[in-house]
Amino acid sequence: MKLLIADDSKVSRMMLLAITKEWGYEVIMAEDGAEAWQILQQEDAPQLILLDWEMPKMDGIEVCEHVIAKNPDNPPYILLLTSRTASDDIVEGLSKGANDYLSKPFDSAELQVRLQVGKRLIEMQTKLNATLKELTQLASHDALTGILNRRAIIAALPKEMKRVERKTQTLCVGMCDIDHFKDINDNYGHLVGDEVLIEITKRMQSALRDYDLLGRYGGEEFLVLTPGSASHCASIYQRICQIISAQPIEVEGISIPVTISCGVTPYSVEIDNQDISSLLARADEALYQAKDSGRNQVVLKQPV
Ligand code: GH3
Ligand code: MG
Ligand code: MG
Ligand code: MG
Repeated sequence: MKLLIADDSKVSRMMLLAITKEWGYEVIMAEDGAEAWQILQQEDAPQLILLDWEMPKMDGIEVCEHVIAKNPDNPPYILLLTSRTASDDIVEGLSKGANDYLSKPFDSAELQVRLQVGKRLIEMQTKLNATLKELTQLASHDALTGILNRRAIIAALPKEMKRVERKTQTLCVGMCDIDHFKDINDNYGHLVGDEVLIEITKRMQSALRDYDLLGRYGGEEFLVLTPGSASHCASIYQRICQIISAQPIEVEGISIPVTISCGVTPYSVEIDNQDISSLLARADEALYQAKDSGRNQVVLKQPV
């Protein structure tokens, strides 16, 4: 594990370097608080820090404050080294973000175990963060296609509405549903149907821009959020239909032609009044019209 040692005394630095290297740490040295802070702002900075309190340019307490302000959710573990022993000083050091302190001169066996406590905590925090990231991904994404799930795409909708309002842009909402998908399941089986869903998702993603959002709204139904101008919107959904119908999908040597229908509507601040249900209902009506008019097409419905 990386360990940052910041101490302005050369003798102290060399002694700390020698013993901590022996304990297996990958040691990085700083000669004062400013240098320590500079190192701590770099990517992949050490998470375990041995910090002298009294240092020129920036003292240990200031370094603590900067570090905590920068990483409130994932702070490094700071062990403060100080010749101060007054209770007020210790309270100040710990309240400014240090996790522990050790009075100079210190006992090397005590330093070793206190660093081990920090190392254990950092390892635990790293594991917890990775698990949290994984769980967040699982909770917001669809397991089959990997795109946003219904809850996540619906949660994104009011945020997108507010964002386009600020930027005076238009937000188009598209409800896209695979045509006669039940027939694919009935003819080739559910597993082949799954593969078709995955491929259709890929094709839809290839037709969208980085700032568009795509979510699986229901079984074979997708909700698409496309910010920009109103005229742009219809053309994006035309492109989705074309890309999907251009070539049959090949699954296990079977060639399956597929089409999709899209109902699209722009969000209107005045008419929708920040109400997502009226907006979704309008997109759904447009989708039904696209189905009724023969499928494989886009129907754009203006708010009235
Ligand atoms: P339409 O053109 O009117 O939309 O016809 P459709 O057959 O696509 O619509 P319908 O609602 O009758 O059938 C949808 C089918 O989608 C039924 C359901 O079993 C299937 N489906 C939903 N989710 C999945 C899935 O995750 N995998 C597979 N393979 N099929 C799914
Ligand atoms: Mg000092
Ligand atoms: Mg369908
Ligand atoms: Mg459907």
